[in-house]
Formats: sequence, C-alpha cells, structure tokens
Amino acid sequence: MFGSLRIGRPFGIDLSLHGTFWLLPAFVFLTAYMAGGLPAAVMNTGVILAVFGCVALHELGHALAARLYGIRTRDIVLYPIGGVARLERMPERPIQEIVVALAGPAVNVVIALGLAAVLLADGLALDIWPSYQNPVSTFLSRLMMANVGLVLFNLIPAFPMDGGRVLRAVVSWFTDRVTATRVAVTIGTGFAILFGIYGLVSGQFMLMILAFVLYTMGRQEYESVRYMDAHRRRQRVWDESDIPTARPYDRPDRPQEVWVYDARTGVWHPAPTRRNLFSPI
Ligand SMILES: [Zn+2]
Repeated sequence: MFGSLRIGRPFGIDLSLHGTFWLLPAFVFLTAYMAGGLPAAVMNTGVILAVFGCVALHELGHALAARLYGIRTRDIVLYPIGGVARLERMPERPIQEIVVALAGPAVNVVIALGLAAVLLADGLALDIWPSYQNPVSTFLSRLMMANVGLVLFNLIPAFPMDGGRVLRAVVSWFTDRVTATRVAVTIGTGFAILFGIYGLVSGQFMLMILAFVLYTMGRQEYESVRYMDAHRRRQRVWDESDIPTARPYDRPDRPQEVWVYDARTGVWHPAPTRRNLFSPI
C-alpha cells in the first residue's frame, strides 16, 4: 500500500515518491479549496509540488557532495514531511560531514537567490498573500519564501537534521565521535520535544510527526555510531593486544566499555580507554 514510486534517476540516483507522499498535496488541495475555491487550491497545490521539487534538489545536493568523497547514495525518497537521501554512510571527517550537510541548504540558497533575481528582473512584487492579481508573482514569491524557510529550518541544530550534523561535526573536533553524537542527539531530542509540544498546542499534525521522526532517527544514529565505535575498538584491541590469548568482549552491563579476557590467567582487563584507542579521525 505504501510502496514507493520511482519518478526519475538523476545523476544515476533513484528518486522516488513514498506511497504516503500524495497525502500532502491532497490535503493541501482540499483545505485550500474549502477556504478559497479552485484558484487557491490550484495555486497552493502547485506551490507545494514545486517546493518538493526543491526538496529533491536539496537532497541531490547532499548526494553529490557525498559523491566527492566517494560515498554513494542508495536513493532519494520524498515523504510528506520532507526528503531523505540515503547515503551508504556518513563521512566521518568533521569537515567532510559539514560539506555534505551544508550542500543541501546551499542548493535552496541558490534557488531562492535565482527566484529573487527573476522577480526583480521582471519587476514583480514580492507577493506571498493570495491576491491572485498576478498568479506568476504569487507562485514565484511563495516558492522563494519556501526555499528561505527550508534553509532556516534545516539549519536548526536538531540532529539528524542538517544543522544538527554540522553541530555534531563541530563538537567532534573537540571530543570523540560517540560523545559528539550523544551531545547532538541530546540537543536534537530537546528540539524534537519542543516541536512535539508546539505541534500539539497549535494542532500542527505534521510537526508532531516530524518531532517523532527526529527523535527516532536521532536515537538510531546514536546507536549505530556507538556500535561502530565498539566494533572498531574490539578490532583494535584484537590487533594490538600483547596478550596472544586475549579476546576482546563487550560487557553487556557496560556497553560503552571493551574488556579483554586473558585466557591464560582467567583475568578480565579493562581495555585502554576510548580516547587512547579511538581518537577522532
Ligand atoms: Zn538536508
């Protein structure tokens, strides 16, 4: 029922609409139709579809920046609450993560500036309210404002949104990646709670869904970063151990730590601390 529909393959990356995507334009069409009739419904639906075209370009910005670092993108999927470029992995060098995270909003900055230039060149007024005297200027103005909104919204430091990724990368300059991710996820969770409460109070259902998705994705990414880190530390303990019979283990009760078991003496040793074993790359 909720399968994805592939609509293109720009730069060799599958671009699809999630099965739930159509709920949004349908909802926008109906609410605008009831409030302002057919012209409002056509205008609002046209704007929302064009905005999602810009969201697709935003995701393509992330994907192409990642490609610079040899990271492939599985696909780009558009959901009613936004787009997701599924990169095979995130770059771990902070500067690379910042470039990949900012490439998306940078696309919307370029689009907004381009639309502003068109509006100025044609002498069209910035016209975001539904006067419908000049539908072209209304359409272009709204699309421009939506792109400005996409830039500002994505730069909120709510991990795993783009601003949160920049935050994680900046924090990881000063500490290890797991701690940096934990800091970014904690701040992101704070924003998710604020979005959720605001969505509940103002009756904005989309914002509540977004809050839930941010919270869930943040936790998932934190778990995967922690898992990767523990895996690497195990490998390092294995590779560098001077105890030939040692085997690195995770202690289930202390998942952040790696312990080494010396089979000769039957003694557990705490492995060297993470700071020694795994410095941020
Ligand atoms: Zn983005």
